[in-house]
Amino acid sequence: MIDESPALPAPVGAGVYNVYTGGPAGSALPTTAQLGLEPPRFCAECGRRMIVQVRPDGWWAKCSRHGQVDSTELETQR
Ligand SMILES: [Zn+2]
Repeated sequence: MIDESPALPAPVGAGVYNVYTGGPAGSALPTTAQLGLEPPRFCAECGRRMIVQVRPDGWWAKCSRHGQVDSTELETQR
C-alpha cells in the first residue's frame, strides 16, 4: 500500500468543502496535480470564497481565516 497523500495546507487540504465549487467535498478531492492546473476558489476548511491571484507560473489563494496557499509551496512539498 502506498500512502502518497501529501500534507496539504488547510485551505486546500482539509477536504470538508470542494475547493472549486464551495459545496460539500465528494470523493474526488483535489490533488496537487489538479491544483497545479486550476487554482482553488473556496477554502476546503471553511468553504469561504478565497481571494485568488493567478500568475504565469502558478497562483496563490487566500482565506481570511486560514491563510494563504501558494502553488509553489505545494510543489515543494512533494
Ligand atoms: Zn478557511
